[in-house]
Amino acid sequence: MKPKKVCSICNKSSKALFRCRYDHKKIWEFLCQECLSVIKLKHKDNYQYGGTKKFK
Ligand SMILES: [Zn+2]
Repeated sequence: MKPKKVCSICNKSSKALFRCRYDHKKIWEFLCQECLSVIKLKHKDNYQYGGTKKFK
């Protein structure tokens, strides 16, 4: 069995996760679309998008 990819914030598994960095963290987080939109608004100044990962 493959390990499930889950959102770093809500821990839900998702077919597509969005790689992003925010809050001046050095590590990349994988977020679902819902959490991404929240983070985008919260961290407008230091949000950085790193691409989409799709899992089948
Ligand atoms: Zn999420």
